[in-house]
Amino acid sequence: MLLREVGYARPGSLGEAIELLAAHDGARALAGGQTLINVMKTRAGSPDALIDLNGIEELKAIELGADGTLEIGAMATYTEIMASSEARARPIIGEVCAQIADVQVRNRGTIGGNLCTNDPTNHLPPLMAALGAQMTIAGGDGERTVSSAEFFLGVYMTAVAQGEVLTKITVPAGRGDGFAAVTLGVEGTCIASAAASVNGGVTVALGCVDAVPVVVTPASADEAAVRSAVHGAHLEPPSDVHASSAYRRHLAEVLAVRAVNHAQGAA
Ligand SMILES: Cc1cc2nc3c(=O)[nH]c(=O)nc-3n(C[C@H](O)[C@H](O)[C@H](O)COP(=O)(O)OP(=O)(O)OC[C@H]3O[C@@H](n4cnc5c(N)ncnc54)[C@H](O)[C@@H]3O)c2cc1C
Repeated sequence: MLLREVGYARPGSLGEAIELLAAHDGARALAGGQTLINVMKTRAGSPDALIDLNGIEELKAIELGADGTLEIGAMATYTEIMASSEARARPIIGEVCAQIADVQVRNRGTIGGNLCTNDPTNHLPPLMAALGAQMTIAGGDGERTVSSAEFFLGVYMTAVAQGEVLTKITVPAGRGDGFAAVTLGVEGTCIASAAASVNGGVTVALGCVDAVPVVVTPASADEAAVRSAVHGAHLEPPSDVHASSAYRRHLAEVLAVRAVNHAQGAA
């Protein structure tokens, strides 16, 4: 289906992008376009203007601090993250990016777009929640940094308000991370997913079971402790054509155990 007519601007700086987004209520940031353009084609969304962030170099940087903290610019694509020697400091991020869809989506889709979409079936929201990532948001009033609990607000809803841009994702040092998912075929959408981090305590973030990633903190990495923590979250996942609520609840426990085992193997 053809797009309806839409305004377009390609600012060269973050300041200019924020000004353009703030000036028009109907303006939307364009990152990889792998969700937004499809949404526009189906008329599920109809922005008046697209503010293309692809010309803003500062949003593409991937930097590794001396203490192992990783800063990933919101406009870094999955392919760039997979190829980045800096991003290998937290290998799970590149490993999970490599599982997203197909090469075309990975070449265009960005970490920032994935998080700003906050589709519950997307791979990166639960991963960033498990890793304890912090999201930096810039707007007319300056910059603020929020945790994933503050960032993910609901299905397709995040803390990024109209006139604001997600600029970077900051991930603390650590290597004991894991991810497991049941997908619709190879390279398919997640039916259920779990990300785990065992750097210090155990943190598990479950995807596809609620509007936002559900974070649980098992007392230990033992299977019984992990299952008990997931059970204690009293999940009420949605039912759809791919899985019943009960099946997703079952998958959440199984995948949490697999993700924790993966994380322990990587530590
Ligand atoms: C065939 C297909 C299969 C897919 N399968 C998967 C999958 O299995 N797993 C998965 O995780 N994803 C999947 N996706 C989605 C894909 O990962 C998208 O790339 C991602 O959801 C959005 O990223 P984007 O860079 O393309 O953002 P866009 O589509 O350009 O933007 C998405 C939304 O985020 C906003 N936005 C983007 N960047 C910013 C920013 N920096 N600041 C503020 N707002 C911003 C936009 O305004 C828009 O509302 C699939 C997509 C396709 C087409």
